[in-house]
Amino acid sequence: MERRLRGVEIVAIGDELLSGASLDSNAVTIARRLEPIGLRVTRKTTVGDSSTQIAEAVRSALERSAAVLTTGGLGPTKDDVTRNAVAAVFNRELEFREDLWHALEARWAHRGRIPETNRVQAEVPAGAEVFPNRRGTAPGIAVEDDSIGLCIMLPGPPHEMEAVLVEQVVPFLEERTGPVGGRPFRRTLRTAGIAESEIAERIGGQLDDLPLDVAHLPEVDGNDIRLTGWATDESEICAVLDEAVARLRGILGAHIYGEGDVDLAQVVGELLRERGLSVAVAESCTAGLISKRLTEWPGSSDYFWGGMIVYDDRAKVDLLGVSEKTLGRYGAVSEETAREMAKAACHQSGADAAIAVTGIAGPTGGTEDKPVGTVWLAAKVRDVVVVGRRYYPGTRDMVRARAAQGGLDLLRRTLLEELA
Ligand code: AMP
Ligand code: MG
Repeated sequence: MERRLRGVEIVAIGDELLSGASLDSNAVTIARRLEPIGLRVTRKTTVGDSSTQIAEAVRSALERSAAVLTTGGLGPTKDDVTRNAVAAVFNRELEFREDLWHALEARWAHRGRIPETNRVQAEVPAGAEVFPNRRGTAPGIAVEDDSIGLCIMLPGPPHEMEAVLVEQVVPFLEERTGPVGGRPFRRTLRTAGIAESEIAERIGGQLDDLPLDVAHLPEVDGNDIRLTGWATDESEICAVLDEAVARLRGILGAHIYGEGDVDLAQVVGELLRERGLSVAVAESCTAGLISKRLTEWPGSSDYFWGGMIVYDDRAKVDLLGVSEKTLGRYGAVSEETAREMAKAACHQSGADAAIAVTGIAGPTGGTEDKPVGTVWLAAKVRDVVVVGRRYYPGTRDMVRARAAQGGLDLLRRTLLEELA
């Protein structure tokens, strides 16, 4: 193959992928496995079990890219037509290979005679290279032509596909990417309490001069920013990534709570530990989620006193000590109640800090002035109490997850500001 390999395309084959009966996990696996050898997946196409569709997809992929990987359609049944379709694209005949047939027979030996139906799995386009499949009957097949390009057919079952890919196809391709092929180096910054659009607006063009890809990854409880730089060696790209991270920290400040796969509850825990503070939690609509998050981290007993689930108003009064007057006058979902919950949590526990959450998770219970998703959060650190209202979109689960994250984030910001 003369054209240097840089980008590759994937053609996923199977009616079940189009109908939604199965998820195309193979394309994800392939992309992840090729990245480290400097190969980027530039396009994925999904087609049904049709020779015409497959041939068309492979042909047009090879007009754009030097190589295409297909998955699926290599089985022994009538709907498995990938071999034929790809042979046609390369103007090759299918050739019955005795060696492949013997290998198939050997695989079957302990089960008796192999069905004749499997014979097609010993047929490959003339001149093809074969990658044995130790987990199944369909081998991987590579067909190459200087003017057309390279097509590698992989079996559909994910565990077979991955074995052939990792053990044989990746080394095969690696040889062709040559020494210039770089690989990705990544840094991820995690934010809370700021919308994706606002992040993008603030960043503007301030990273444009750096040779990096910037990806915005919205999650239920915050937005991640992922920086990707390509290089053959980390030392080449390290300074660029450092510079981008420094700029983002300058631009986004306290909205960034950490890097990599760090969890916000872990960050809050570390801040409490560093400052020698303890925390108590009073949760209404999150009903224990914040306590769960905080205690997922080993050693949390160093700073976590405990939590009170005060769902009903009676619990807020009897268990926590919120005044009936406050509840009666302002309602359970209010600034005043959230503030009192945080104060009472500290009072009851003797803890130095507290988080309180009260809100309407929905889908019922909303009113005109307190719609579903309205959440009041309070964070208390020593004598300072900060209260804030949020409107969280989404399902009940999402509102609760976002409220838990919001409560943790409010405490984090309060700790940073009050005890900097
Ligand atoms: P096939 O080789 O097309 O007969 O596929 C065999 C099995 O592999 C099917 O039952 C599919 O569910 C599964 N499969 C095929 N393609 C994919 C894919 N792209 N992602 C995940 N599973 C797949
Ligand atoms: Mg299939």
